[in-house]
Amino acid sequence: MNIMKIAILGGGLTGCTLAYLLKDKGSIEVIEKESECGGLMRSIQEDGFTFDIGGSHIIFSKDKDILNFMISLLDGNYVQRRRNTKILYKGRFIKYPFENGLADLPKEDNFECLYHFIQNLIKKERGELKPPTNLREWCYYTFGKGIAEKYLIPYNEKVWKYPLEKISLEWVERIPNPPIEDVIKSALGIPTEGYTHQLYFYYPKYGGIQALIKALEFKIQGNIITNFNVKRIKKENGKWIVSNGKSEREYDKIISTIPIQHLINSLEGVPRDVREATNNLKYNSLVTVMIGLDTPKLNDFSWLYIPDRDVLTHRVGFPSNYSPYVAPKGKSSVLAEITFREGDEISKMKETEIVEKTIDDLHKLGIIDKSKVCYINIARLKYAYVINDIDYSKNIEIIRKFLQQIKIDIVGRFAEFKYLNMDDCIKRAIVFTRRFDKNG
Ligand SMILES: Cc1cc2nc3c(=O)[nH]c(=O)nc-3n(C[C@H](O)[C@H](O)[C@H](O)COP(=O)(O)OP(=O)(O)OC[C@H]3O[C@@H](n4cnc5c(N)ncnc54)[C@H](O)[C@@H]3O)c2cc1C
Repeated sequence: MNIMKIAILGGGLTGCTLAYLLKDKGSIEVIEKESECGGLMRSIQEDGFTFDIGGSHIIFSKDKDILNFMISLLDGNYVQRRRNTKILYKGRFIKYPFENGLADLPKEDNFECLYHFIQNLIKKERGELKPPTNLREWCYYTFGKGIAEKYLIPYNEKVWKYPLEKISLEWVERIPNPPIEDVIKSALGIPTEGYTHQLYFYYPKYGGIQALIKALEFKIQGNIITNFNVKRIKKENGKWIVSNGKSEREYDKIISTIPIQHLINSLEGVPRDVREATNNLKYNSLVTVMIGLDTPKLNDFSWLYIPDRDVLTHRVGFPSNYSPYVAPKGKSSVLAEITFREGDEISKMKETEIVEKTIDDLHKLGIIDKSKVCYINIARLKYAYVINDIDYSKNIEIIRKFLQQIKIDIVGRFAEFKYLNMDDCIKRAIVFTRRFDKNG
């Protein structure tokens, strides 16, 4: 019997999970362009600090089986934490999510948030509000003018770096509607919790988020080829030939987890409309600034959202609060995230400028003391967030259909070009494997 040779392009979480699930079903090779697997989940360890270079990652899921899968992979190398996340607003730390922290606001702001939230509900009941068609309208429609203008709109503008009126509603499907009781309680200062699926989260004790990938890699040893940047893919005599420009490898089947743009650009004979649709997909990129501090403890926060437009970073994580083993004894760490789009002002800033501005901002906000900084690093990632612009569904459908025709499967965050968290990626790898078992 001929053994099917399968290439899994990309060794991020999706590629490694697929290889683990499919490893007895053929001869599997994970092809990764970097010198190690991990993708967005790579971590660096230096001078006693461990940082997740793709931004702050925590382990959580609504799906108990997937959560258990992730935790069992870590084989005891994990800690559980209760979320203590804040939003920095007018110098105050507001409980997250914002609608659950209204009593922390100055009284006038608290009133405006509650008043407009209730006004909105009345208008909705009377059929006086048009259902939203884009993210900006959705912020007003779901939360009212107060919460929308004080937090949601400035914060979302800062993250997406794309006009909110041009972002479709696919993305917001994942955000729960706030119950009225909770909003009233929150305004009165009666404790409530939002996004409860994330209230308790897990994090590797040692090794940062890449520990999850390392655990998977251990299970698929011998199936990984690193330093192989896929540049060309063609079909010859019923076989797929994958090339990095120097050497070629031959397969019966390809499953791609690499960004869809890389896949399409590697293929020969792609129709013009598919190329156009690919070029029209919108995404944003990420800079992470990693800061080590000679301070035993900065605060008790998990992470902090900063909607203020004058501050460069939109989100700051505190890794040494996730696990004490990711910083040397007596020191602490901060991981600042800054999104950008190619060609914008941030994309043109020098790395030293980004680091200096981030440290200055955090110092001025009283989050760090810059005289205590003892470690600095910076990383850039081209693909961080999929932007669901208005033409997203149309474009992605054109590309999907083409890939179906030529029988290349796509699984994962930038392969499917979909807002997928780690648990979603694992789920999609499981669903793919089930389908594979049925249909081959
Ligand atoms: C800022 C940020 C924070 C996040 N926080 C969380 C969180 O807290 N919890 C959570 O569950 N999820 C989080 N996520 C999502 C999580 O990172 C992703 O769901 C997951 O890492 C996606 O894995 P993937 O394998 O699909 O993609 P990737 O990690 O992008 O992997 C793709 C792989 O393909 C390789 N590759 C690319 N091009 C080529 C090529 N031409 N040839 C060969 N190889 C190639 C890449 O090097 C990479 O290893 C976060 C994401 C971001 C951006």
